[in-house]
Amino acid sequence: MGTKKLYYKDSYIYSFKARLHKSGTDDKGRFYIVLDQTAFYPIGGGQPNDTGTLNNKPVIDVEEVDGEIRHYMVEPDLTETEYVGEINWDRRFDHMQQHAGQHILTAAFEEQFDYKTLSFHLGKEICSIDIEAADLKEKEANRVEEIANQIIVQNSPIETKWVTEKELDNYPLRKDISVSENIRLVIIPDFDYNGCGGTHPNTTGQVSMIKILHWERKKKNTRVYFACGNRVLAQLHEKEKVIQGLRKRFSVPQEKIMEATNKMHEKIKELESTVSDLNMKLLEYEAKEFIQHAQIFNNKKIVQSVFANRSKLDIQQLAKILVDKNSDILVLFVNETDDKLQLVGSRGEQWNLHMGQFVQQSLTIINGRGGGRENMAQGGGEKVISAENFIEKVMTMLEGYV
Ligand SMILES: [Zn+2]
Repeated sequence: MGTKKLYYKDSYIYSFKARLHKSGTDDKGRFYIVLDQTAFYPIGGGQPNDTGTLNNKPVIDVEEVDGEIRHYMVEPDLTETEYVGEINWDRRFDHMQQHAGQHILTAAFEEQFDYKTLSFHLGKEICSIDIEAADLKEKEANRVEEIANQIIVQNSPIETKWVTEKELDNYPLRKDISVSENIRLVIIPDFDYNGCGGTHPNTTGQVSMIKILHWERKKKNTRVYFACGNRVLAQLHEKEKVIQGLRKRFSVPQEKIMEATNKMHEKIKELESTVSDLNMKLLEYEAKEFIQHAQIFNNKKIVQSVFANRSKLDIQQLAKILVDKNSDILVLFVNETDDKLQLVGSRGEQWNLHMGQFVQQSLTIINGRGGGRENMAQGGGEKVISAENFIEKVMTMLEGYV
């Protein structure tokens, strides 16, 4: 015996009485009960399930299996045979608004621009439809939003009808129907005719408002994000908070916020370039200092040092400056981070050694990996020894290398 679906009789029923038909456990071990009738909508057709209570105990999930509607519960009382059901009406009415809003939006896109809807997602905060449009224009989206909201203001009825497959010929359906029995049509007269098993308000006016929020390309199609009903207010509230924050931050009126952020962006780019120039100058000073204290090795020079938590880019730039200006220098820098040792090596033209190979071999001391070109290389490994100890070992290895 299938469950009698009260939400099809009247989508506004949020409280009902029912008798226990059976109880059971599904293949995932979740407990459920089946009643002779219910107002709980099960997940399906793009609409999430209702939540609520049965005899004051929470219903956490609702599914339809073979015509039976399963109410999943955590701690049911199995001695009870009579049930009072209460569905979470705010959640259900919100779903009704989003669902009907989607019908209206889909119809408006198709009517105005022949963009067919491919799929619908009713999300927790916003909804989306994928439409067959490769490049949706702002003008088009604005037009569709306008039409959709006109339909809402007209407060047209939203009717439902059960029809046979034969009777379908009498209706200008938007999409072919995939089922051949129990066909339910949802109709906004002279505007939209659709096969749908979801719940909707009785009039378009109750959708209250539709706002298209933004859209993005999805392969050859476009995903359009939107909100209906109270969600529009929630969106507005959230956006207003952001705008007020920005107004205060920049001390400008709302219409000047974009200009202010553009200016700030330009300023940041300028500052970044200045900082980078200054940093380069500092590195050049530091390089001079290192050359003065360079170690003499076979008539050439070696610069070695240990750093703690310094930026890798800084160290690489410093090594590059040193060998660019001094063809007789070889540089070995070790950087100690919180959990790693990094090695940077570079050499001037007078040195006859492959830096990539040398660094790679040096890193085996600390179970590390790395490599690079003939004159510049880097890599990292574990902190199995101290940075000073590591550089000493690398120096010893160098003596045997050249
Ligand atoms: Zn629907």
